[in-house]
Amino acid sequence: NDKANTKKIHKLSQDVISKISAGEVIQRPSNALKEMIENSLDAGSTIVTITVKEGGMKLLQIQDNGSGIRLEDLEIVCERFTTSKLTKFEDLRKIQSFGFRGEALSSISHISHLKLQTKTADSACGYRACYVDGRLSPANPSDSAQPKPCASVNGTTITVEDLFFNIPSRKKIMKNTQEEHTRVVNLIKKYAINNSSISLILKKHGETTPEVHTPGGLSPRDVITLIYGADVGKELKEISIVSERFEFDMTGYFSSTNYNCKKTMFILFVNNRLVESKSLKTGLEQIYSKYLPKGTHPFIFIRLLVHPRNIDVNIHPTKSEVKILHEDSIIGLIQKKVEEELSVSLTSKTFTTQT
Ligand code: ADP
Ligand code: MG
Repeated sequence: NDKANTKKIHKLSQDVISKISAGEVIQRPSNALKEMIENSLDAGSTIVTITVKEGGMKLLQIQDNGSGIRLEDLEIVCERFTTSKLTKFEDLRKIQSFGFRGEALSSISHISHLKLQTKTADSACGYRACYVDGRLSPANPSDSAQPKPCASVNGTTITVEDLFFNIPSRKKIMKNTQEEHTRVVNLIKKYAINNSSISLILKKHGETTPEVHTPGGLSPRDVITLIYGADVGKELKEISIVSERFEFDMTGYFSSTNYNCKKTMFILFVNNRLVESKSLKTGLEQIYSKYLPKGTHPFIFIRLLVHPRNIDVNIHPTKSEVKILHEDSIIGLIQKKVEEELSVSLTSKTFTTQT
């Protein structure tokens, strides 16, 4: 009987909506970390220290020396769609900051235990606060939820514990914490290259020697050498392209024909966002396959700056994909330049072996 199967439609509660979307924005510890590093960078930090435990599932802590958060903003900082970076939809066209959705902290607070400590330069002391489901929450049941004054240096420390504690299915999928840890390490390495002027430090909780430690004030090439070794560092060719027609500016480090590895290392930042691009990656692999021994691959790091009006950063909740106007033409130009470089280095290689 049809009537019995017809169910009443009702509106989901804000809390359920937020939890569902939190699971989309934050798929794994490294997503949460990416959001928080970008917040630290948006805040103008020059030193960012990350501590993780169990691949970030147990603990993810990000300490920065950036602008800090004002006391009066602590009430809403973890609410959904609260941001200091975007006001009008039109602003998205010229967005320079990483954030704009105001979703990251809210999402994280719905699926973990989130604490923060922060101090702005013009405040005499720092403040500490805990959040549950986007709202201020007491650290202990007997406490008040209001932020508490504390001694603090300028900047922000965000501590995320027990990620996915209330999503058991997700927690189960993430039980290989070693794999999650590797993702965290790889993420930090990539950010370290693209942000070579600042210091990034990654530590496992309880260990004294950092796994990644860049001192700041280096060039991307120096950081690649520091992290991936001199073998690749000394074989990198720097290639730059500026195109007025397609309104982009690219600087990249491409391994020469003297270097190869088992799997392509392809790192791409578009307008300083770490993104994927299958088409650019395979486009370049095609070129390299003509110059490298069969079954071997290159190391590629690309920084692409495109005019903000030519890029749509709002097509994916984790912002890992972007849409770029003139993408095919841009890829074509990069391919051409890399091919020129590789063919030159090949001719000079043959030349030196001949003499
Ligand atoms: P979005 O980055 O999209 O604005 P988030 O949820 O990531 O949204 O952050 C919300 C707001 O919290 C930011 O707009 C910013 O004002 C503030 N914030 C978050 N992290 C930091 C930080 N490390 N330092 C200073 N301000 C921060
Ligand atoms: Mg953000």
